[in-house]
Amino acid sequence: MAANLKKDLEEIMEREENKYCADCGFVDPDWCNIRVGVLICKTCAGIHRGLATNRVKSLKLDSWTADEVDLAIGNRLNEQLEKFLPMYYSKPIPSSQTALKESFIICKYDGKLFEDDNKLKQSSIGTGEKSGFLHKKGKSKEAWKPRFFVVKNSNLEYFIKIDDTNPKVQVPIKDIGINLEEINLNMFAMAITYFQESSSSRNYYAYSDNNLLTIEWYYTILCAQNKIANSMECINLDGSMLCSGVYLQKSGYLYKPGPAAKDVWRKRWFFYNKGYLSYYKEKLDAHPKGEIKLGKRAEGFEVCAGESDHHKQAPYEHTFQLKTPPRTYKLCAETRDDMVSWVKLLNQTIQDV
Ligand SMILES: [Zn+2]
Repeated sequence: MAANLKKDLEEIMEREENKYCADCGFVDPDWCNIRVGVLICKTCAGIHRGLATNRVKSLKLDSWTADEVDLAIGNRLNEQLEKFLPMYYSKPIPSSQTALKESFIICKYDGKLFEDDNKLKQSSIGTGEKSGFLHKKGKSKEAWKPRFFVVKNSNLEYFIKIDDTNPKVQVPIKDIGINLEEINLNMFAMAITYFQESSSSRNYYAYSDNNLLTIEWYYTILCAQNKIANSMECINLDGSMLCSGVYLQKSGYLYKPGPAAKDVWRKRWFFYNKGYLSYYKEKLDAHPKGEIKLGKRAEGFEVCAGESDHHKQAPYEHTFQLKTPPRTYKLCAETRDDMVSWVKLLNQTIQDV
């Protein structure tokens, strides 16, 4: 490759607008989608390569012709490509799950959903309405069964059979908490939680064999929630899809001992949704083992990192405490980042609730 072309590519990489991947924000991207001209990181380039209409080249490793260099116009274009990105559609960050990056890239480049307002409005992600079969997990351990799901008229409902007159369960969209969870390697399901009038919350999982379809369902429901809430604030706390646009949510494993000093720390699946922190014995359980209703700081609720006197017995050093008027919960995350993210979320809740 001619020395002047190499210099041109270096100059492109140096430009201020090209310091971050156009899709996930990873620093110093050195790949380019030469159909569109944007600069992307190696991971996103791998996803772009899988799309039939896109061609990617490494700015450092590949040989370029002068014509190709002209195509590398850089990320000043990105504003146009994401002009209509809805606020409930949180853009991936470097640590986001691959399926989320993939769905974003397909919607952005193949679907052109975010540069054309009409296209988004016509897709289910934009309408907040959708129907179709999903695998749904029953209350018992292993059973996944096909159920017909419908998001319409501000409700999420599912039917045992497609021609049933009445849904088995119908829940107002505004009352559900929703999250995406990895249930198997690279296989995602929606985790849907809702509160039942006379008992604790119910949690169920539903997924499509096609990951992208699961993600489309997820965003369709977020869009429906957004339409109901009408005004919303999107708060991105980390890469694990905390942003529902309408409500703060987070789930993941934490360790928690029982209330007595000699109690051992047990791994539990935690799910935060709408002022409730629920914990489950296993990730896919239908009912929580316990639920903590969070209140305001003035009522005696507090979250703080570190400080646990159980510190030495905890499985990891990333401990934090949740103080509630009746009891102080000692909790422990597997990584520091996760601990910081939980503390940040719970603090925000205690202030906001
Ligand atoms: Zn990237």
